[in-house]
Amino acid sequence: MTPYDATSPKAPAALVDGFGRTVTYLRVSVTDRCDLRCVYCMSEHMTFLPKADVLTLEELDRIASAFVALGVRKLRITGGEPLVRKNVMSLFEGLGRHLRAGALEELTLTTNGTRLAQFAGRLADAGVKRINVSLDTLKPDLFRKLTRGGDVAQVIAGIDAAQAAGLAVKVNAVALKDDNAAELPELIRWAHGRGLGMTLIETMPMGEVEADRTDQYLSLTALRAELESFWTLTDLSVTTGGPARYVDVAETGGRLGFITPLSHNFCEACNRVRLTCTGTLHTCLGQEDSADLRAVLRAGASDEDLVDAIRLAVDSKPKGHDFHIERAARPAVARHMSTTGG
Ligand code: SAM
Ligand code: SF4
Repeated sequence: MTPYDATSPKAPAALVDGFGRTVTYLRVSVTDRCDLRCVYCMSEHMTFLPKADVLTLEELDRIASAFVALGVRKLRITGGEPLVRKNVMSLFEGLGRHLRAGALEELTLTTNGTRLAQFAGRLADAGVKRINVSLDTLKPDLFRKLTRGGDVAQVIAGIDAAQAAGLAVKVNAVALKDDNAAELPELIRWAHGRGLGMTLIETMPMGEVEADRTDQYLSLTALRAELESFWTLTDLSVTTGGPARYVDVAETGGRLGFITPLSHNFCEACNRVRLTCTGTLHTCLGQEDSADLRAVLRAGASDEDLVDAIRLAVDSKPKGHDFHIERAARPAVARHMSTTGG
C-alpha cells in the first residue's frame, strides 16, 4: 500500500464536524511507553501495551498523512515519551515531506526532554521548528520525586541542545499545589530569561494514578491573581486554536500561557483530534467517544475507506468535555494522558 498522497491536486474537502468546527490539528501519540513515571500521569507500575497492538511507524504515517490530505495543517507528535520509540526519527523524517510540499504548516513534538540532546539536530533537519518540553521544577530532588527517578540535568541539557539546533522551545509545567506552586514564578523567570515560552497546565483527571488529584489541583485563576500581585500581565489576543490563553509578562519580557481545562471551557473553538498509538481516534480529550482506525487499516482499507472512517468519526465529535474538579479525584475518563497523548 502506498503512503497517502497528501499533496494530490484531488485533495478531498476539509474535515468539518457536526457543530461546524473545522479540524486542522492532529495529535499523534506514537507510544504509551515512557522513561519517566510522572506522579500525575502514570501509576508507579504501569502495564504497557503489547507491541502487536501498537501501530507500526508506517501505519502512523499513513493515518497522519490521510489527515494532512483532509486539511490538517498541524501535527504534534506525543506519547508516552515519543523519543523512546525505536526509529521514531524516521517518522519525523517521513512526515517532513508534507512540510516541504506545503501541505503541512507545522510538525511539532511534545517531549519530556530526556533524549533531546541526542535528537535535537535530526528533529531540526526533519523540519521541526518548535517543540514543547515538559518540566515542572528545576530542583533535582523534586524532579526526581515528581517523575519517580528522573534527572533534571538531562532535560536542561536537552533544552540547551534544542536551542543550539535552532528549535523554539516552550516549557510546559503542570501546576501542583503542594509540590511546585511556590517555585512557579522562579521557573517562569528562568524560562523567559533563556528566551523560552512557558505554559502552565492545570491537572486533569485522566486515568487512575495513586495520588488524590483534588489535593494537587491548583486553580490557575488563583495562580494568575498571585502572579499579578508582583508582575504586570497583559492579555494577548493570540490563540493557537488550542486551550491556552496567553499573557505578556512585562517584568520578564516573556510570554506565559495558561491551560485551564477545569476552570475554563474552551471547547467551542476546538479544532483538534487525537490519535493514540493503537490507532484509536479520540475526537474529544474529555469524552470516551472514539473510532478504531487500526481495525480499519488492518482490514486492508483503501485510502478512501480510511478517509470515510475519519470523516465519520469527526462528524460525531462531541460538543464539549466533562471535566469538573468536584469529580476530579475520580478520572472523568479512564485512559491515562500517556495513552491519549496530552
Ligand atoms: N512524555 C511527553 C511529555 O511529558 O511531555 C509527552 C506526553 S505527556 C502525556 C504530555 C503532557 O501531558 C505533559 O506536559 C504532561 O505534563 C501532561 N500531563 C500528563 N498527565 C497530566 C494530567 N493528569 N493533567 C495535566 N497534564 C498532564
Ligand atoms: Fe512520561 Fe510525559 Fe507522562 Fe511524564 S507526563 S510520565 S514524561 S508521558
